[in-house]
Amino acid sequence: MKTYDVIIVGSGPAGMGAAFELTSNNKNISILILDAEKYSTGGMRNDCKMNFTYPIGFPLEYWDKARADRYLEKVSAFLKPTILPKKQLEIYQQRARRLDVSLIEIEQTHLGTDGGLVLIKKLLAELGEAGIDLALGEAMTGIDLSEKTITTNERILGYRALLVAPGRKGFRFLQNLMDTIKVDYIDNIVDIGIRIETRIEHFPIVRDYYDPKFHFPEKVRTFCTNSGNAHVVKENYKTIHGEPYCSVNGHAYSAKQGKENGLVNFAMLQTVGLTAPLASGQLFAENLGLQAMLMGGGKPLMQRVGDFRLGTRSKEASFNDDLYDFKPSLLACCPGDISLAMPARILRAIWKAMKKLDTIVPGVLHPSTIMYYPEIKLYANKPEYLDENFRVYDSIFFAGDGAGTSRGITAAWASGIRAAEGIAGSI
Ligand SMILES: Cc1cc2nc3c(=O)[nH]c(=O)nc-3n(C[C@H](O)[C@H](O)[C@H](O)COP(=O)(O)OP(=O)(O)OC[C@H]3O[C@@H](n4cnc5c(N)ncnc54)[C@H](O)[C@@H]3O)c2cc1C
Repeated sequence: MKTYDVIIVGSGPAGMGAAFELTSNNKNISILILDAEKYSTGGMRNDCKMNFTYPIGFPLEYWDKARADRYLEKVSAFLKPTILPKKQLEIYQQRARRLDVSLIEIEQTHLGTDGGLVLIKKLLAELGEAGIDLALGEAMTGIDLSEKTITTNERILGYRALLVAPGRKGFRFLQNLMDTIKVDYIDNIVDIGIRIETRIEHFPIVRDYYDPKFHFPEKVRTFCTNSGNAHVVKENYKTIHGEPYCSVNGHAYSAKQGKENGLVNFAMLQTVGLTAPLASGQLFAENLGLQAMLMGGGKPLMQRVGDFRLGTRSKEASFNDDLYDFKPSLLACCPGDISLAMPARILRAIWKAMKKLDTIVPGVLHPSTIMYYPEIKLYANKPEYLDENFRVYDSIFFAGDGAGTSRGITAAWASGIRAAEGIAGSI
């Protein structure tokens, strides 16, 4: 049986950030990164826009500004982003302030899905040069605490320290692991919402600010804006009982690809914090996902704003007659009525925010604009951490979106570095 100084589970930005930090401080350390997928680095493969300003991506319960800035400096020094310019910000901010909305100014870069793959290849080459082992298509399946070994689908491996960073996809795996090693956690917070798709001329702010971060009252915010060659996509999930449901998401290719479709998409999400008696955000979100599947015949729902305003469902015709002058980029959806599937409180808050957004950036509520439902973000596992380096047990650490320490690429990378500092201390 082979034993490594550090085994990292997950090759996303949290795992990568930790690996590079560990190896830069100690060239002789032996590190293995495992990833269940046959390809590497999880969520960096989608759109890869990176935000370098607090609080975007940083859960406030674990990060204050001073700490996040310190780590962001490291992330930035490593990834060397080209920050996108912004224009006319003051005008939008002034309009927003009048409506009790804030438009946060963020340093951001956008590589696009194609550019993300180029970055991943470069990072993998650097990992190899640093002597870090990478095992793709190999998933961690179990652990023996007394032997300090983990089981994968292929073998048993020894560790001196273990970092588990399995991302949102590994949400359930992480919960099972926490049950096994008896780490207490809650998952009472979840983001639920819709994805908006429209023509760029109906949301022209994206020409001035690639991913504008609007924060509205009632914990509603814009999230993950993509434009140019932008597409809405479907993600498949399974409930705790194995029933399939979908969430929508979005990404764009970089301008370099030169195939603009003239569309923009972004999420409007509301953060929901549950209290007793139902405290599992996961179960709540799964039920909403199933409800949407029921209404959409197994597909996500889509509705034109024009139909929504009239209180009628969208039909096939809503997507091809003359008023509705662009095709949905995600065709595998069911035209319907999102208000039949969405909880009233969430829909009301999001619609109120949409109206404010339409006043700040006139045009976004054009009748042709499409609302896709559901968009669900499950990243709110909140384990009970033993220290500020996200240690959960002896020499076991967690990091990244699945462990609730981040909500985006740069923050995941930062949380990987933070965990690595603890790991370095523990071995
Ligand atoms: C469609 C889409 C678009 C996105 N766009 C952006 C964006 O533009 N900007 C941004 O900042 N964020 C974006 N995100 C979010 C971003 O991807 C995440 O915040 C980030 O990747 C989290 O990093 P992580 O390291 O925690 O997890 P991940 O990147 O998800 O990596 C975790 C890895 O762990 C692996 N894994 C899981 N379980 C196991 C196991 N048992 N054994 C071994 N390996 C396992 C997974 O296969 C995965 O590769 C997007 C997400 C999606 C889905």
